[in-house]
Amino acid sequence: MVNLVKPLRMHRWLIPLLLDYSLAALAFVIAGVWGWVAYPVSILLLGIAQHRIAILGHDAAHGLICRNKKVNNLLGQLLCFWPLLFDIDAYRKFHWDHHRHTGADGLDPEMHLKQDNYHLPITKKQLYGRFLFDMIGGSIKEFVNLSVYMGKRSKPLWALSFMALAFTASYYAGHVEFFALYMISKPTAFWAVFRMRIYTEHTELPVDGTHRLHLSLWQRFLFAPHYTWMHWEHHQHPHVPFWQLPALRLKYNNVPVISFNDLLNWNKRAKLTGLEEEMALAAMDMQVRKTA
Ligand SMILES: [Zn+2]
Repeated sequence: MVNLVKPLRMHRWLIPLLLDYSLAALAFVIAGVWGWVAYPVSILLLGIAQHRIAILGHDAAHGLICRNKKVNNLLGQLLCFWPLLFDIDAYRKFHWDHHRHTGADGLDPEMHLKQDNYHLPITKKQLYGRFLFDMIGGSIKEFVNLSVYMGKRSKPLWALSFMALAFTASYYAGHVEFFALYMISKPTAFWAVFRMRIYTEHTELPVDGTHRLHLSLWQRFLFAPHYTWMHWEHHQHPHVPFWQLPALRLKYNNVPVISFNDLLNWNKRAKLTGLEEEMALAAMDMQVRKTA
């Protein structure tokens, strides 16, 4: 059983972060070696790497890197949110409002940003079609909305200083295209994998509802890294670091775990099997927990 008061261990956060940075470095290497023919793969890898770093930033915003709050916030800001061009404090406020009011219209800021763009059921053809559409920048308007929302709440110094530094570094490295690839990956590949993950979290569930999922290895790598697919467990215990989520999963056996296919058929299959009622009951249980 997971020990919920176990001390935090910085290396359990830092080592995965270094691997994510290595993935971004690999993206630059293949672009540098093979040139423009490798740019699409490079952009995809950069989007995946940024998304993975964002998930570790999420742990930092929850204060889960180490007990020393100042060190926690500094590491989260410099290593995760700075390259994402946001402010950890702005994200923390946004994200805690999401935890407190999950799925509540007008109170959960995610609902405001998702607008009417996420519905289930969805066919694989529609989902992967949308992935490709995002990859070519078709959803740049949604990305801009998020950037403006977070940008208004962040200190502009973070975004400006990172872009200035990244541009200067790539210019002097003789690969100014690295900066362009990094920036292009944000409204394209990053957004494509971000959307896939958002689908897996709360789509079509009542207030305080979270899907409880099991994903395959390739799905975890592509869009649900660092156990973020155990989002149900995270909402039950937001003070548990990501690397303890698998142990936490074993603690609960009263809420069904569904596959990605089941999720895509949600509303069709859930009504038939009673899954919808079970998840609604789990959401009610969550509300009782919050108000207790
Ligand atoms: Zn969270």
